[in-house]
Amino acid sequence: MKDEKIIPEEKNKPKENETKGPSNFIRNIIDEDLETGRYKKVHTRFPPEPNGYLHIGHAKSICLNFGLAEDYGGLCNLRFDDTNPVKEEVEYVESIKRDIKWLGYDWGDRLYYASDYFDQLYVWAIKLIKDGKAYVDDLSPEEIRAYRGTLTEPGKESPYRNRSVEENLELFERMRKGEFKEGEKVLRAKIDMASPNINMRDPVMYRIIHATHHRTGDKWCIYPTYDWAHGQSDSIEGITHSICTLEFEDHRPLYDWFIEQLGIHHPRQIEFARLNLSYTVMSKRKLQELVKGGYVSGWDDPRMPTLAGLRRRGYTPESIRDFCERIGVAKADSMVDIALLEHCLREDLNKRAPRAMVVMDPLRVVIENYPDDKTEELEAVNNPEDPSMGTRKIPFSKVLYIEKNDFREDPPKKFFRLAPGKEVRLMHAYYITCVDVVKDEKTGEVVELRCTYDPETRGGWSKDGRKVKGTLHWVSAEHSIPAEVRLYDHLFTRENPDDPREGKDFKEFLNPDSLKVLKNCRVEPSLANAKPGDHFQFLRHGYFVVDNRDSTPDHLVFNRTVSLKDTWSKIEKKK
Ligand code: ATP
Ligand code: MG
Repeated sequence: MKDEKIIPEEKNKPKENETKGPSNFIRNIIDEDLETGRYKKVHTRFPPEPNGYLHIGHAKSICLNFGLAEDYGGLCNLRFDDTNPVKEEVEYVESIKRDIKWLGYDWGDRLYYASDYFDQLYVWAIKLIKDGKAYVDDLSPEEIRAYRGTLTEPGKESPYRNRSVEENLELFERMRKGEFKEGEKVLRAKIDMASPNINMRDPVMYRIIHATHHRTGDKWCIYPTYDWAHGQSDSIEGITHSICTLEFEDHRPLYDWFIEQLGIHHPRQIEFARLNLSYTVMSKRKLQELVKGGYVSGWDDPRMPTLAGLRRRGYTPESIRDFCERIGVAKADSMVDIALLEHCLREDLNKRAPRAMVVMDPLRVVIENYPDDKTEELEAVNNPEDPSMGTRKIPFSKVLYIEKNDFREDPPKKFFRLAPGKEVRLMHAYYITCVDVVKDEKTGEVVELRCTYDPETRGGWSKDGRKVKGTLHWVSAEHSIPAEVRLYDHLFTRENPDDPREGKDFKEFLNPDSLKVLKNCRVEPSLANAKPGDHFQFLRHGYFVVDNRDSTPDHLVFNRTVSLKDTWSKIEKKK
C-alpha cells in the first residue's frame, strides 16, 4: 500500500485538559479504587486484534483508555491481541499503530503483543492442569457445542473430563508438539458444566491451529483463546482497569476465575456500551467484506468508517476526539446519529479551513464591457472566522466561469441568482448583469452568458447603495486550474443496515449514489500548491480536502469532507 501523508504527531496531541471529560461511571469506579487503595495508579490498555483496520468505534475506546490514563497521570499500553494466526496480518498491525498516532496518542515504549506471553500462558496452563483445574478434551468442536447446553438447560460433562493429571499433562505436551490434527483435542478449564453462565461451562483455553504466526512463526501449533489470553495479559502488564465493551460482561466471572486460580495481580474489568453510528456498519468482519468484495476502493475509501477512511475524507483528529468526548460512555447500547460526528467536524473546520472559490459545473461568462487583456488582482479574506489567516489575491478577467445552476433562463419567483436582465454580485469582485444568452444551435443548451459589469462596484459593494439579492462564486477562466472533485454520501441508505429485523444482508442497503465524481471543475489559482491533507471551505459547497492517494500537482483531486448544511445544529435547536 502506498504511504499516505500523516500530519505530524506533535500537532495532533490533545491539548492539556482537553480530555478531562465530565464524570462518568468509569471515572467513579476508578476514583473509588484509588480512594480505597485497591490500586495506587491507573494503568489501562488498548487491545486491538490485528484482523482489520481501526474504525470510529475503536476511536472511542482509544480516547477512553488513553484519555483516562492521561487524566489520572497513569499509563496506557498498546497490546495487539494476536492469538489467532489465521486472520491476522502485519499490514493491520502497521495501520493500527499509524491510526492511533494520528489520533494523537502515544504508547511510549509500551507496545506489546499477546503472543509475547505465549510461554508464560503455557506455564500457567500446566499449573492449572496440575491443580486439577484444566483437562484435555477429545470431543469435536460440534460435540463441545452440543454438550454446552443452553441458557435454560445445564451442560453435560465430557467423558474425558476426569482424566488423571498425568494423562492430561502428557496429552497437552503432545498437543504442543504437533502430534494431533486441528479439532482433535482442546485444553479446557474445569469449572462447572451446570453454571448458569455459559462462559463458565468448561471454556476452551487452547485449540490446535497448524498455521504460521506473524510473530512466533511455527513455534506453536496450540493457540490460547481470547478468554485465556486476555486477563492474564492484562495481569502481566500490571493493568489496573481493563475497559472493554458490553459483550464481555458475561465473561467477567471467567476473567476473575482464571486470575484467582493463578493468584496473580488482579485488574478490574469494566464494560461500556460500544459505539454504533447511523448509516454505516462497524464490525471489522463486515468492513472487510466490503473491501474484499470490491464494494469500496479499500480500507481507506473515504466512505468507510475506518480511521484511514475518515482521514482521507478529511476528518481531523481533533473533531474525532471531540465527538468521542461528547458521546460519553454509557452502560446501554444505542445508536449515535452520524450528523453529530459531522457537526463536530464542521465546528473544527470552520475555524481552520481557508476559503476558496471553486466552480464544479462551469458555465462560461463573458463580460462585454471589460477590457480584453486586463487582469485585476482582487483581495479576498481567507477566513472570516479568523482574521489572522490573512487575505489572498484572486485574478479577475474578461472571461469567467460560474456554476451552471446559478443561472436560469426562466427563473422561478424566489430565484435570486443570475437570469436574463438580472443583476448579481460576484463574490469579492463586481456586480454583473446578464444581457444575452448564447445557446448551442443543435441542442439549445445554454453555453455562454454575455454580461456587463459595473466598474463602480469593485470589491462587490455598490457606492450608490444599490442592493442585489444574489452573491455567486466564480473563477477566471484563464487563471483557474482544472480539478477533479469527489462528492460522497452515506455508504448505506438505511440508518441501521445491520438491523436483524430487516432479515437482509447489510450489503443490500449499500447506497448506489454514495460517490459522485466531477471531472471538469475549475479551482481558483491559489489552490495550485495545495498539498494532500490540506483543508478548504469551497464557498457555498462545503469543506474539502486534497486527496491523500490520488491527487498530484498535475491532477488535483479533492474529496468533499462534509457539506455546509448542519442537520445536527437544527436538531439541537429544536430540543
Ligand atoms: P469488531 O467487531 O469491529 O472487529 P472488536 O471488538 O472485535 O470489534 P477489537 O480489535 O477486538 O475489535 O477491539 C479492540 C478494542 O476496541 C476492544 O477493547 C473493543 O472493545 C473496542 N471496540 C471495538 N469496537 C468498538 C465500538 N464500536 N465502540 C467502542 N469500542 C469498541
Ligand atoms: Mg474481535
